[in-house]
Amino acid sequence: MLGRDVTREIFEGISSSGEVLFYVLSALASIVFLVGVGVRLRKYVRGRRQDVIGAPLDFLGRVVRSTVDTAANRTVAKRDPYAGVFHAAIMWGFIVLFIGTAILTIEADIVRPFLPQFSFYWGAFYLVYSLVLDVLGLAMLVGLAAMAVRRARKPRQLDYARVDIAPATTDRGGFQTGDWIFLGWLALLGVSGFILEGSRILANDYPWFEVFSPVGWVLAVVFEAFGMTAASAEGLRYATWWGHALVALAFVAYFPFSKAIHALADPVNLALRSPLAGRRLPVLAASGAAPADGHLGIRDLDDLPWKALLDLDACTKCGRCHAACPAVASGAPLSPRDLILDLRQEADAAWSIAAPLSEVRSDLEYGGGTRLAGGLISADTLWSCTMCLACVEACPVGIEHVPTIVGMRRSLVDQGIVAPSLQTAFTSLAKQGNSFGQSGRARAKWTDDLPTPIVDARKQDVDWLWFVGDFASFDTRVQEATRLVARVFQASGMDFGILYEGERNAGNDVRRAGEEGLFELLAEHNVGQLSKARFRRIVTTDPHTLNTLKFEYPDFGGKYEVWHYTQVLAALLESGDLMTRQPIGRRVTYHDPCYLARYSKVTAAPREVLAAIGAELVEMPRNGANTFCCGAGGGRIWQDDSALVERPSEQRIREAAALAGVTDFVTACPKDLTMYSAAVKATGYEARLLVSDLVELVATALDLPSLDPEIEPAIQPAIEAAGPVDEITPGELAAAEVLPG
Ligand code: SF4
Ligand code: SF4
Repeated sequence: MLGRDVTREIFEGISSSGEVLFYVLSALASIVFLVGVGVRLRKYVRGRRQDVIGAPLDFLGRVVRSTVDTAANRTVAKRDPYAGVFHAAIMWGFIVLFIGTAILTIEADIVRPFLPQFSFYWGAFYLVYSLVLDVLGLAMLVGLAAMAVRRARKPRQLDYARVDIAPATTDRGGFQTGDWIFLGWLALLGVSGFILEGSRILANDYPWFEVFSPVGWVLAVVFEAFGMTAASAEGLRYATWWGHALVALAFVAYFPFSKAIHALADPVNLALRSPLAGRRLPVLAASGAAPADGHLGIRDLDDLPWKALLDLDACTKCGRCHAACPAVASGAPLSPRDLILDLRQEADAAWSIAAPLSEVRSDLEYGGGTRLAGGLISADTLWSCTMCLACVEACPVGIEHVPTIVGMRRSLVDQGIVAPSLQTAFTSLAKQGNSFGQSGRARAKWTDDLPTPIVDARKQDVDWLWFVGDFASFDTRVQEATRLVARVFQASGMDFGILYEGERNAGNDVRRAGEEGLFELLAEHNVGQLSKARFRRIVTTDPHTLNTLKFEYPDFGGKYEVWHYTQVLAALLESGDLMTRQPIGRRVTYHDPCYLARYSKVTAAPREVLAAIGAELVEMPRNGANTFCCGAGGGRIWQDDSALVERPSEQRIREAAALAGVTDFVTACPKDLTMYSAAVKATGYEARLLVSDLVELVATALDLPSLDPEIEPAIQPAIEAAGPVDEITPGELAAAEVLPG
């Protein structure tokens, strides 16, 4: 049985006046901490109202999931196991040391003075407590050392150089200093704690039970080996007691004004993130997003929703979004990290008494004030975004860059700051319902050459309504693939039809280009046309269309089950409704379109199709949800990209061309087909790589050109029961009802 002597004195050697001084300093540190947190909370209160909770049960589910993610450090470990392991060591080390300190406080300040019979800080509890704190404290120091080594190697994402201003004209040394202070302070806390422990053990002549503080014990031995006596160890212990206490209390005060705040902001931000961030944008009329003076979108600081303000404080400057962003990679003046940091500096400067303490004052000269869209954040920066969602997907702390960028684009459109080429596309879309400047009546002209006509779904009931989309309908290169999709569907016996001239551009990219009014017109028109047709499900070849039909049309009265054609093909091949005649036997790579892999999370179906038709798939380093962007999304395809250092599509072709023996670059998006067909020519890889849509390979495997149109369709679709594969889960869909306003 372990006795009460198995413990240590909490205020050993500290006089009563020393204890009083300690409590006074503790109170001061706590007050500064609370003021700092209060200032941050006041900032969020100033943000625009937004419902991020929605249905309580859904919200609870999201909180539980995000808590598990945070505890398991999943979002940090994603695609970066090094950071995952060592951040977990720091995080759990810090949490356990904090809990250990709280336990000590309870024993010293509540139990011993008021309830001494319940004293617990001795015996077996003390041994376990000592061991756990020692091990986790050591883990924290190892984690800090590993992160310091990584930082010293200057990885690309931790290079804070701006992409929109010549680096020589800006000084971001404050960011580096702030990061090092944070790491150093934590390290000082851990090291001073261990020195205190080692000197205490030596000063007390190695009490046997202190072997349960193994790091302290080893340090005591080392101190002694270097000639330290028990008496000198006592002096060191006393000095370190105060040193450790002052470092810890100063850290409490420094916490809300520094990078340390992410320890509080990030779990909350992760719990409040929308599973459909960027996929389903807020509706202006319903969200109350139009302020009293009538301007639209996020023009000024006051227009930022409160969750967007929390986003700003959650950013740890880890640079993952910066490293993933195709705009950064192609030399455009946009970095999602810098956009967030610029907004943070501005919000702090405008609203926070923490401003004088923030790491760096705004390093942008834009005339001051609170004008964001076209002011602090330049129009060129905002128009550079392809809406690829890579930043949102990469961010380990749940920051939602895309809705904020779209909000500011809405303001640019509202202010009339729109490039002429984009304005031309808007005008064509408004007049003809397509961005090709062609008559809306010509939309279904691509069907003229088909051996078997396609049903008009407005005149005849169909199982599937095929929403074709603009590029698939009008772009001459893509039309070849579109006709093959029709023939493959027909060969499978699918019961499908189209809207013919009733269809207009679905509006996904119009919306992401900030033209909300035009998007609403397009959505309302299409919902009206779809209401005239009788069908069970929608299929589309266009991942952009897929996103907006599925996630955004419900806000306009159109609730549909929407599939991507790769999901349909996978189901048809799986069920035997489509029978390949010959394995294509080609070595291919597959490019995941951003809007398919990230927005709708469809990554398995295209690979299943490739496997079923006998293609040998070689993956590019960036694949699945970690795909790279073609550069066309968010309205970029309607804008001039000649100023880019190298287009993202060309970089992607080089990535594919580096794969040994790969002959085909396959994708599953009409815009991708256009972009990569151009990029393979621009990079000189035309003879090396054949750019195809997935359906073109499927048609080859089916030997489609030789198909006799009289052939009996072979099918009783077994896809009925299959359901679309690998898409956003029902839970996430339910949670999608919880949206920022
Ligand atoms: S959506 Fe894509 S292009 Fe836009 S900021 Fe994010 S990573 Fe960059
Ligand atoms: S926004 Fe997210 S991914 Fe980007 S630097 Fe900040 S924390 Fe990292």
